[in-house]
Amino acid sequence: MTGPTTSLQTRLTAGIALAAALLVTAVGWYWTEREEQELTQALQRRQARMAELAARGFAGPIWNLDTAAVTNLLDAVMAEPEVHAIELNAVGVDAEPTRRVREREAVRPLTVEFDIVHQAAPQAAPAKVGTGRLVYTRQYVAEAVAQSRRFVASILAAVLLAVIATSALLIRRLVKLPVSQLGAVAQRVAEGELGTTTPVVRRDEIGVLTEQFNSMSRQLQRSAEVLRASEERYRSLFENATMGIFQCDARGRLLRLNRSLAQMLGYARPEQVLDHSHSLRRLARIEPPEYRRLATALLRHKLLTQVPLLITLHDGQQRWVELSAHLVPDAAGPRIEGMLSDISERRAAEQELTRHRDHLEELVAERTAELSQAKLRAEAASQSKSRFLATMSHEFRTPLNAILGFSQLLQMDASLNASQIGKVNLIRDSGDHLLSLITDVLDMASIEAGRVRLQSEALDLRALLEVACDAVRLRADEKQLRLQLDVHAELPSRVRADGQRLRQVLLNLLSNGVKFSDAGEVRLSCAPVWQGDGRVRLRFEVSDTGIGIEPAQLERLFQPFEQVSEDARRLGGTGLGLSISQQLVRLMGGQITVQSERGQGSRFCFELEVPVAA
Ligand code: ADP
Repeated sequence: MTGPTTSLQTRLTAGIALAAALLVTAVGWYWTEREEQELTQALQRRQARMAELAARGFAGPIWNLDTAAVTNLLDAVMAEPEVHAIELNAVGVDAEPTRRVREREAVRPLTVEFDIVHQAAPQAAPAKVGTGRLVYTRQYVAEAVAQSRRFVASILAAVLLAVIATSALLIRRLVKLPVSQLGAVAQRVAEGELGTTTPVVRRDEIGVLTEQFNSMSRQLQRSAEVLRASEERYRSLFENATMGIFQCDARGRLLRLNRSLAQMLGYARPEQVLDHSHSLRRLARIEPPEYRRLATALLRHKLLTQVPLLITLHDGQQRWVELSAHLVPDAAGPRIEGMLSDISERRAAEQELTRHRDHLEELVAERTAELSQAKLRAEAASQSKSRFLATMSHEFRTPLNAILGFSQLLQMDASLNASQIGKVNLIRDSGDHLLSLITDVLDMASIEAGRVRLQSEALDLRALLEVACDAVRLRADEKQLRLQLDVHAELPSRVRADGQRLRQVLLNLLSNGVKFSDAGEVRLSCAPVWQGDGRVRLRFEVSDTGIGIEPAQLERLFQPFEQVSEDARRLGGTGLGLSISQQLVRLMGGQITVQSERGQGSRFCFELEVPVAA
């Protein structure tokens, strides 16, 4: 960890030092080059001036062949330290040139040649008396430049030292320390201390990096917590599932299994299973051909769904299980994940069901026979009850008619006093009530015994309705009730129906209307609903403005012997009228319905479809 950090510092410092060195070197090089150039130019200028002086100075002595003067002049020239050599050639003199040369080697010598011209008189033409060669050494220039270079080198060294020291210090303070601090925190995060942060000291790039690192660390902690919670949930699901869950490698070697599966295999804990064997095939003692078949199907389809399988536990017990599994691709090779559920009980129930289904028909036939026997017995019982009732009612009627006949005669006897008349009236009323009760019971019994046969006859509908109204008119008038008959204009005048039964029904409904109303009106209406093809559907309606019926009582209305209201008991009656009427209307192919509200009157309706008579 420290290696790369040091290296970064070294590299940064070296980079900065290199840049500074290059800069200082370039400046130094330029500076010394320039200096050398300037010094050389100055030397050249001095050399030219010396050559000019020599040309002029040597002309006289050479003309005059004044050797001593020439020698003096040569010494004078050589006194100039920068002069390396001087050489004179006298024109026309066939002798060795006169020269002076220093012993020391010239440094990058500069040579200039010049003519020596003599003018004897101002008017005379100048005459060339000789030539000269002046050699200058650049030793002093080189020394000056070398000194400058040394100076530049020392500046370079000083600058480098300063740059290296400053940059090392700055990099250490600004980069190395915060980065290594961040590195230490990162190390702690990597070791599992998620959520560890470090304070942000400066607002620079490192500060931003630290902030981002802190938020990453906190985010990591949050994600790890979420992950842990979810893992716990899945672990609990896995461990507490009632189904057996397992994971194994592609060769069928168990990697993990939950407690339910261990228990299904006859062990208490998953570890015990794995201690015993890792092979699912061996643990469940699946037959090799069956196992191969499953493996091939799984490899081909990547999925097995609810495959029933017979397994044998280590105690030899056999159980039916249902296997669902799928192949999970994984970098380390495919894995198999699956579930086993114990279906032994279901299987037994299914077998039981199949057995029952096989015997169901027999059972149904058996039960049907029993039921039809019971039905026949019940019907026989019902019929004998009805027969008994019919016979008894008939037997009651004969003496009752005698009682009624004699009480009628007694009522007409003028010798009876008021008290006796009252008692005779009571006998008459009681006898009438008993007779109507017996008539109703007889009717009911006849209907229930199936002995009522409808007599279809051509009848005048309007006349029938009027007769029914007339029968209750007297009672209605006594109670000052309006009795209204509404006959639709398009009502066919003659139809075929059982007039006696129809009249009985209408009479019952009308007399109830009158009985249970104290004011207002009782209305009978009849209208065709549709007509055609020689038939007509008639709607009969009996409404009143009487006491009405509670909603709860409406349901029991058509049951025999039901007197739904308290007033009904007071007003007399048997509680059989509506029940008989409903049975009769049903026999005629209709159904009585009722609409009523307590205190708002009642409306009884039924529809019958009958042939129109000619
Ligand atoms: P009942 O001989 O008592 O009139 P029903 O079978 O004709 O026997 O009627 C049964 C009961 O239905 C009556 O006791 C009465 O409580 C109720 N009921 C029938 N018709 C009416 C009506 N038009 N208004 C109010 N209550 C009625």
